[in-house]
Amino acid sequence: MFAIDDGIVIKELGLHLDASRRKDLSFISHAHADHVAGHKSVIASKLTARILSERIKKTTLYPMAFNKPADINGYTIELLPAGHILGSSQIQIETKGKRLIYTGDFKVKPGLLAERIEIRPTDILIMETTYGKEKYILPELNQIVDQITEFIESARENNSVPILFGYSLGKAQDLMSMLGKRGYITSVGDHIYKLAKIHEEFGVKFGKYERFDLNHLEGKVVILPPHLSRTRTISRIKKKKTAILTGWALDKGAEARFGVDTAIPLSNHPDFEELMTYVAVSKPSMIYTVHGSPEFAMLLNKRGFKARHLDFYQMNLWDDLHLLE
Ligand SMILES: [Zn+2]
Repeated sequence: MFAIDDGIVIKELGLHLDASRRKDLSFISHAHADHVAGHKSVIASKLTARILSERIKKTTLYPMAFNKPADINGYTIELLPAGHILGSSQIQIETKGKRLIYTGDFKVKPGLLAERIEIRPTDILIMETTYGKEKYILPELNQIVDQITEFIESARENNSVPILFGYSLGKAQDLMSMLGKRGYITSVGDHIYKLAKIHEEFGVKFGKYERFDLNHLEGKVVILPPHLSRTRTISRIKKKKTAILTGWALDKGAEARFGVDTAIPLSNHPDFEELMTYVAVSKPSMIYTVHGSPEFAMLLNKRGFKARHLDFYQMNLWDDLHLLE
């Protein structure tokens, strides 16, 4: 039913899943750069398709609503919310009474803006396992939110500008919405601003926010993408406190690694327990893991599940997985 071709492909449909290179037809789970390429045609959720319409040109977009199955050549395709960022999607593919679910990036516990994830029983599960090691356990969301607001308040007590670094798509809008609800005014990078405008078309509210302007930062909370943390833009702000928002904050030395004062573990990915919860609920007879290390698949094997890590770089083209045949 499916094979590996620098990514996963449903052969009979010619449908690739988050292919990294240009294809005739690919499902795009969400618009983070590592899941996007300039395909000829794309199946995606409505919000993802809208974001992609700004990002990739000369593409035919097929936006699909969640939970609205479509039949194509004997296959039924349905998008399910993934809980990773708003609009992020899993894809369920059924044929001859067998079901495959590809998660894309996902999150089991509720996030700040994303739709609640839907976990269904499946025969084959292809899942991301970015934080697939037992040591990765995230604190509860309300504790993380407290940590963020405490960081902002203590920066202000020092007359410093609080600067939060988070991915432009997803993390930044999560922060804008959460801080907006608490009455903070945010000053956000250009790309974050543009993406926020698209989110507003879909009914999301952010409170007061403006485009980042070095000369107007007083009283604002700055949100910028992580790649700016070591740039001149930041060094020109004299009094500041910086924080990175990422699951990698769980690792020792994250502050030095990202060049910031504080690292706060706000993640849009599932931690180890959430990964196990997903598997327990979906009860797949076969699990393929993508992203992260092979360790999680090995651990699943030890716990009685049939699992294999897919390393696209080490697999042969069209390495057939013969699953549903
Ligand atoms: Zn992602």
